[in-house]
Amino acid sequence: MNAVFEPSLLFISDDDWFDELKRDAFLEHLLNHLDIMDEYDICRIWWTDELQTILVGDPNMHPWFGSDLRNPLIVTIHQKFYKRTESCFEHESTCEIAPPLIVEYANPIANDSFLKLVHALIELEERFYFCIGLFNKLHTDATFAFYCNCHSHQLQPKILNAAEDWLNFLNAVDQFFPTSIEEFDSNFTKGLELVKRKEFGGSEYRFGFEFSKAFKKSVIHRTTHREAIFTAIVKKLTSTSAESAGSDLHDEFLAKIKEWRMRVTQRPSSTRIHYTLEDKKVSFLRYYGDGEHDDGL
Ligand SMILES: [Zn+2]
Repeated sequence: MNAVFEPSLLFISDDDWFDELKRDAFLEHLLNHLDIMDEYDICRIWWTDELQTILVGDPNMHPWFGSDLRNPLIVTIHQKFYKRTESCFEHESTCEIAPPLIVEYANPIANDSFLKLVHALIELEERFYFCIGLFNKLHTDATFAFYCNCHSHQLQPKILNAAEDWLNFLNAVDQFFPTSIEEFDSNFTKGLELVKRKEFGGSEYRFGFEFSKAFKKSVIHRTTHREAIFTAIVKKLTSTSAESAGSDLHDEFLAKIKEWRMRVTQRPSSTRIHYTLEDKKVSFLRYYGDGEHDDGL
């Protein structure tokens, strides 16, 4: 499933462009969407020749002027946007949208072109993520519907009012749980980062961390508790030692073997992770799954 960018996410009026606060808010909103789509390689953006003609046409619209490219931020926007566009035909007529969009950018024809694109998607019965500009943001559970007289099929896209809304459609386990040693380093850390953003409000890590080869081996073939493994590690890394001792991690030092142990899942499965802690760096040693006894205890 691909995304469609609502025109006010891409285009701005000249008046707003020359108002520094409004311009910055507009650029930040657009860049945030493109950044997160890039970071997680989420999907492509439906685009048509007609929209492209409007984007570079006359009157030209910021931030798509060649001269806008003096700003490095806008260079990044151009690169990340064009990298993701995927061509779709435009239907010969527009479809309807309810509620209607506010059209406040330099060339209002873009709204018709956008509705021709969505009409084509109605014809293709192709669902899409709908990324909305600041002007047309909706309240949490409100939605847009697209329909027409010539097709019986209505489209209700998945709404994204802000870039962070992409997190609702991402799953750390599906996307990043590693299944081989080779992909462990690149994937596992990304999975942790995603869980941190989704479930821990973007808290900062309090510790550096690394994973031993034994840890990687003990994790990659797991088919159960994958989510819990991610969550427990993020919780450990974002908590103070006192917090993780008092939480369901039951974080404790095992004096006999000089290792720390924390719970991943509670009884009856009681899965655990052992680690060492030195100079604010956590070295994860091994994961113990269902029914596996901690070595040396
Ligand atoms: Zn139709």
